[in-house]
Order: sequence, then structure tokens, then C-alpha cells
Amino acid sequence: MKLNLNIQPLHTWIKTGKEPLLIAGPCSAETEEQLVATAHLLAATGKVSALRAGIWKPRTRPGEFEGIGSIGLEWLKRAKEETGLPTAVEVATAKHVEEALKAGVDILWVGARSTVNPFTVQEIADALKGVDVPVMVKNPVNPDLSLWIGALERINNAGITKLAAIHRGFSSYEKSAFRNEPMWDIAIQLKTLAPELPIINDPSHITGNRSLIGYISQKALDLDMQGLMIESHIDPSVAWTDAAQQVTPAALAEIIDHLALRKPEISDAVVKDALSELRSKIDKIDDLLIQKTAERMQIAEKIGQYKKDNGITILQVNRWDEILQKRTAYAKALKLSPEFTEKLLELLHAESIRRQTEVMNKGEAQPAEKLTHA
Ligand code: PEP
Ligand code: MN
Repeated sequence: MKLNLNIQPLHTWIKTGKEPLLIAGPCSAETEEQLVATAHLLAATGKVSALRAGIWKPRTRPGEFEGIGSIGLEWLKRAKEETGLPTAVEVATAKHVEEALKAGVDILWVGARSTVNPFTVQEIADALKGVDVPVMVKNPVNPDLSLWIGALERINNAGITKLAAIHRGFSSYEKSAFRNEPMWDIAIQLKTLAPELPIINDPSHITGNRSLIGYISQKALDLDMQGLMIESHIDPSVAWTDAAQQVTPAALAEIIDHLALRKPEISDAVVKDALSELRSKIDKIDDLLIQKTAERMQIAEKIGQYKKDNGITILQVNRWDEILQKRTAYAKALKLSPEFTEKLLELLHAESIRRQTEVMNKGEAQPAEKLTHA
């Protein structure tokens, strides 16, 4: 089901051109000189549509730099006057909203640590009632699409229609190359539920590492995200926050120059033909997959009946292990990854078990459950 959001297109509130929309600036405003000098270099690249800077920083641990506070709003004002760049800051309380609006900040964003908390988001939404300001909502720290959607809805319900989502990746306990796992499928699900909602990618907070920013930016554009928010500092080596992920304005321009811009719609007739031929092959294979899956389920039901008649338990762990091992080995020989094959088989197996349970319990509906095989 589609979300019921009332959204104005991106170009109505921020300058968008042929190049990807780019919001850039330091993680934190540190000093007036640092902010204003960075803003001038960013503006000079001609690639930046808005200047970002954190004034109030939600830090994971106390004692870290918690933002320069309200004085930074004056610096942002000066940076805007001198460069013409609209400004964007993170707000986490009603007071932040009030102060930022009073100082003429053009765009507000809700940070990942605020999106997790409906009380915080509602407080921000209430402070925004009756105000016409663009708001961007970062995904929550934890991989929970509903929380992200809930925050967008709260802000939208407050009357904010200049709305965008920012995909900044999700915290994960497992070690990975990224600071925050992109979990692209969550952003894709949001896009599917709200196609009119612009999604801006934040490769800085996903990677935590400046060397991977180009790679993630390209991937975001290939997934048809509408823009990028990238942290840029005049001298990242001395940045007070997020030093490893910030890039100089010159490095930022180079990253952007190396991005390939691909179009969502196909204009070339030959490419269109070739693509539609490949797509029709995929469609046929998908039909076959569905047909074979249905056949597999019918057989599973017969097995269920047989087990019922003979008083046998539904789950036989040895049989499941055998399926998993044999099919995974076969799939590997056909160049399918074991992780993918395992997920696919688990999905099929869970549905088979559900159908067999239904047969055993005389047709009473059973919810599909994910089985965990220890
Ligand atoms: C930031 O943009 O500097 C920031 C704190 O990001 P996030 O809320 O994504 O952690
Ligand atoms: Mn940051």
C-alpha cells in the first residue's frame, strides 16, 4: 500500500540541475573562519546547492564536542550572505527549530538519533506547525522502516510539504567496511511506498571513510536517488568531529566529476529494444519460478497429509539439513552465493512448513514464520 504523503517536488525548494543535487558542508560548524572559508570554496566549485553544518551535535558519548550552539547560526547567516548558498542545519528540539527559523536557516533536518524517538519527532513537528520550511528526515539509527516512515508522516502531518528523506545507513553490531550499513533495500522499500518522496543519500555517514564516498555516491545515483549530502571541511585532518569521513571542497568536486549520471528513462531506441528483450526473458523465468513454487507447495501439502496419516512430525531436521547442503552446493556450482541460496531455501521451506501445518490442523490458517535452524 502506498503512503499518503503530501509532497512538493524537490525543485520547488532547492536548486536542482543536470548534475546530482549536492548538499555539502562540514559535519560541525567549529569556528566562524572554518565555516565561512569552507562555504566559499564549496560555492566556488559551482556544484553545491546548499550548505550544511551541525550546530547542535547529538553525540553518542558525553564529553565529545557537542556543537558550537546558537552562535553558529550567525556564522551560517554570514556564509549565506557572502556565498548565496542556502543553509541547512540539524534540529533536535522545538527550541532548535525556533532559533534556526529566526536566524533564517533555509532547510532543517532531523538527525538519525532523533528519528528513533517519536516524542522528539513530534516535538519538532509541533514546532513546525504553520511554518513553510523544507525538512529532511534522516533514517533512524536502527534498521526500522516504520520508524522512518512514522517520522516523515509526523512532519508531513504538521503541514510540511517540502519534505525529503535522507538515507544515512543503519547501525549494525557486526563489523563491516562501513560505519553504517547501507541496507539499500530499506531505502528502496521507502521509494516504492512513496515514489514522490525525494531520497537523498548521505555517503559520509554510511562509509565513515572518505575513500569510499565515491563508490557509495555512484551506487545511490544508480538506484535513482535524487541527491547527495556529503560532509566537506576546509581541512578534514583537524576536524573536531567525523574527521575520517570529511573531504576538502576540492576533493568533493573531484568525486562529483567522476560520477556517471544514468537516466531513469531510456531514450535510445536500440537500447530500449535490447532491454525489453532481456526484460521479457526475465518475466518468463519469473513466471516459471512462480509456477514451480506452486507445484512445490502442492507436493509439500501431499507430504503433510502423509505425515498426518502416519503420525510423523512436520519438521525433520536431518531432511532439512540435507536439502540445505545439497542445494547450496549445486547452487554454488552455478555461481549463486551460499547466503542467497540459503535465504531462498529458508523462505521456501518456511512456507512449506506453514502449508503442512495447515493440512495437519484441518485447514486452519497459520501465519508464515521464519524458522531458525540451530
Ligand atoms: C550529521 O549529519 O552530522 C549527523 C550527526 O548525522 P546522523 O544523524 O546521520 O548521524
Ligand atoms: Mn557528521
